[in-house]
Amino acid sequence: MFKWFKKQLDKIGSPTLDWVQVEITTHCNGACIYCPHTLMKNRWTSKQMPIKLFHKLIPFLKYTDMVYLQGWGEPLLNNDIFEMIRICKDQGKCVGFTTNGMLLTEETIRKLVDLELDIIGISLAGTTATTHNRIRKGTDFNKLVSNLELLSKIKAERKTNVPAVHLAYLMLMSNFHELKEILTLAKKVGAKQIVISNLTLIIETKLFSEAIFNDTEEIDYYSSILKEIKDKAAIENIIFDYHGPGIDDASLRCRENILHACVINVEGEVVPCVLIDPVLCENREPGDSNPPCYIFKGQSFPIRGISFGNIRNESLTHIWNKKEYSGFREFFNPNITRSSKQILPETPQCCITCYKRLGA
Ligand code: SF4
Ligand code: SF4
Repeated sequence: MFKWFKKQLDKIGSPTLDWVQVEITTHCNGACIYCPHTLMKNRWTSKQMPIKLFHKLIPFLKYTDMVYLQGWGEPLLNNDIFEMIRICKDQGKCVGFTTNGMLLTEETIRKLVDLELDIIGISLAGTTATTHNRIRKGTDFNKLVSNLELLSKIKAERKTNVPAVHLAYLMLMSNFHELKEILTLAKKVGAKQIVISNLTLIIETKLFSEAIFNDTEEIDYYSSILKEIKDKAAIENIIFDYHGPGIDDASLRCRENILHACVINVEGEVVPCVLIDPVLCENREPGDSNPPCYIFKGQSFPIRGISFGNIRNESLTHIWNKKEYSGFREFFNPNITRSSKQILPETPQCCITCYKRLGA
C-alpha cells in the first residue's frame, strides 16, 4: 500500500523531458588536446556506470522521449552498453550516443544495427587526417572514415536507415578552414546531420586563442562561412546546426536544454549539464592549491560541480522538483525578463563563467 502510494505521489509533478543524458563511463581511449580527460589526467578517476545503477533509471524512462548515453568518456568502453541500449529500446525510447569511432569494429556495428540504435554521433575536429589526428589525439581519421563506410555498408545490407550518423564537429581557429569539406565528408559516410560546436570548456590558457568567439574582429567572416555551408547543406538535405559563433554578454540563455533535459552522471548524480558535472572536480582536497580551473575571458576560475540529488536514493521526480533545482532552471526560463542589472547577481554561481550562457 505504501509503495503504491509512493508511486502515485511520484507521478505528481513528474518531469516531461526531451531527453535524459546518461554518463555511462568516464573511461576514454582518446587524448584530445582540449578535453578535461586529457588535461586533468593526473587527478582523473575513470569509472563505469554499473548496470545495477542504470536499472534505477527504468521507472523514469517514461518521462523522456530519448536517452543519450554520453558524458566525459567513450561510451563503447562500458561493456554493458548493449544491454543499456536494449533496456531503453524495450521501453520504446529513441537511443543515441556519441563516439570517437575507434571501437566501431564489425562485430560492434552489427550489434548496434541489430539493437536498432537510433543515432550515432561521431566526434570530429577536422576533415583531414593531419588536423583531426593532431587535435583528437589517440584517434585516427582514416580508421574512423573506414569504420563509418562499413556501417553504411551493413545498414544497406540490412535495408535499414538506423543508426542515423550525426557528425559532431568541434570548431576551432586551427580547423575552421577544413569545415568547407564537411559536406563532402558527410555524403561519403552517409551522415544526415552535422552539429558544429564551440570550444566552451577551456582548461588551458594556450587553448584560449583556439576559441572562435575570442577572435571578435573576424566573427562576421566566420558567421558568413557557416551560413554559406548551412545553405549548401539544405540543398543536400543535410541538417547543419551551429551556435554563435560570437558571444553576447547580455545573454540570459543557456545553450543546453536544461529546462527539458538533464544529465545523470556516472555516479547517479543529477546535473543540469556536463560542464558542471561533479566528475570534473573530483579528487579535490580541501585547500587544494591547484584546483581544476577553466579560463573565462582570460582569467582562471575553479570549476564548480553541482548535483541536485542522486538516483541511487531519490526518485528523479523528487530531485527534479526540489526547490534548488527548480530555482536553477527558473533563472533560464525565457518567459522571465530581467534587467541587465539583475543578470549577474541572479545567475547561478556555477554558470557565471560559462560561455554557453553567452550563446557560444
Ligand atoms: S574522445 Fe571524448 S572523452 Fe575522450 S579525450 Fe576525446 S573528447 Fe575527451
Ligand atoms: S549556463 Fe553553462 S554551466 Fe550553466 S547550465 Fe548552462 S551550460 Fe551548464
